[in-house]
Amino acid sequence: MKVHLLPFVAALWITATWPLSLSGAELSWWKGNLHTHTMWSDGDDYPEQIAKWYKDHGYHFLALSDHNTLQVGERWIDVMKSKGGPPALQKYLAAWGKDWVQQRDQGGRQQVRLRTLEEFRKRVEEPNRFLMIQSEEVTDRWKTAPVHMNATNLRHKITPQGGDSVFDVMQRNMNALLAQRKATEQPMFLHLNHPNFGWGVTAEELMRVKGERFFEVYNGHPSVRDLGDATHASTERMWDIINTRRLTELKLGLLYGLATDDAHNYHGMAANRSNTGRGWVMVRAAKLDAASLVLAMEKGDFYSSTGVTLKSLKQSSKEIDLTIQAAEGVQYTTQFIGTRRGYDATHKPITLANGTKLRVTHRYSAEVGQVLATVKGPRARYMLQGDEIYVRAKIVSSKPQKNGTTPNARESAWLQPVTP
Ligand SMILES: [Zn+2]
Ligand SMILES: [Zn+2]
Repeated sequence: MKVHLLPFVAALWITATWPLSLSGAELSWWKGNLHTHTMWSDGDDYPEQIAKWYKDHGYHFLALSDHNTLQVGERWIDVMKSKGGPPALQKYLAAWGKDWVQQRDQGGRQQVRLRTLEEFRKRVEEPNRFLMIQSEEVTDRWKTAPVHMNATNLRHKITPQGGDSVFDVMQRNMNALLAQRKATEQPMFLHLNHPNFGWGVTAEELMRVKGERFFEVYNGHPSVRDLGDATHASTERMWDIINTRRLTELKLGLLYGLATDDAHNYHGMAANRSNTGRGWVMVRAAKLDAASLVLAMEKGDFYSSTGVTLKSLKQSSKEIDLTIQAAEGVQYTTQFIGTRRGYDATHKPITLANGTKLRVTHRYSAEVGQVLATVKGPRARYMLQGDEIYVRAKIVSSKPQKNGTTPNARESAWLQPVTP
């Protein structure tokens, strides 16, 4: 294994603004969450309360992705039957006032009208500070397998398209998004959510979806099983399997990995509740607008995080060079992970004793997604050798993730893969 590590030098490029875009406009890092629920579906708080939480906690953008609905039209909820109940209403009234909160009495039932995105975005958006992005969690299934896909920056609601296999469901929803993008010329994307939720989606199914560019390598909901189990591959293992085969036999291009909250519960933090602040993306773009963010993400110019922040990042077909914003007393380990050409490509389905094949991700050799180099400390660099199919960096810190859903979760970051 050949590893090129440079000694630390106080080089010029270590500045927060590197690099400059072609137009000369300075690029900035924008922090955002692309997966969150409100009372428009099964979240337990009002949308503007949730937007306010993200804005107050240093995020720059937020996509509220309710199940099979946009936040449009007239919708009244019954306070007693609503997920947040009277306590959520009290907090909502305290924060936004009686003039903003619309209430009515319907045959003795207290009701509140949910504000639409067009209405409440005016109250939270600020140029170059905070942006709302329209979104929907297209919530579909095949038989009992959940197939959930988030449409970021869509213009019109997408009805779940159904299909005759998990792959078909994903492809048909993907095609619906691509058709809308073509018709509207608005940059938008559809990402596959939490593949291990309900053991819904395998690597072999996801890798074949044409036009798919993103999936959730980290989802902060406590029931999504990102780490897999003895029978099911982790989302990170799936990511390596998918990119290895997409870039060789399938020729379908890189799949990027997102970290999201998938928050539903906004009243009380606990490991077993789906809370805010667990996973996010940092996107490098000249401007804080939806089109710039989508296009930057499609170029892979972003990373996913559960706590680790970068001071600088340079990624190309030749090298990955990163510096971490190191916190006092915290150790950082960066692994460069990839698959080399000529890897052992055998893979086997998992079968029961009676010979039945399970619909789970196959087993692959250790040469798929192997650790190519490990670097300790705040700066890490990897020079590509040229025989890698792709390389990605993952940083794990010694600091426990705040309010993590698994006992040993450490603050981490996942960089996007590059190819030589
Ligand atoms: Zn979901
Ligand atoms: Zn969700």
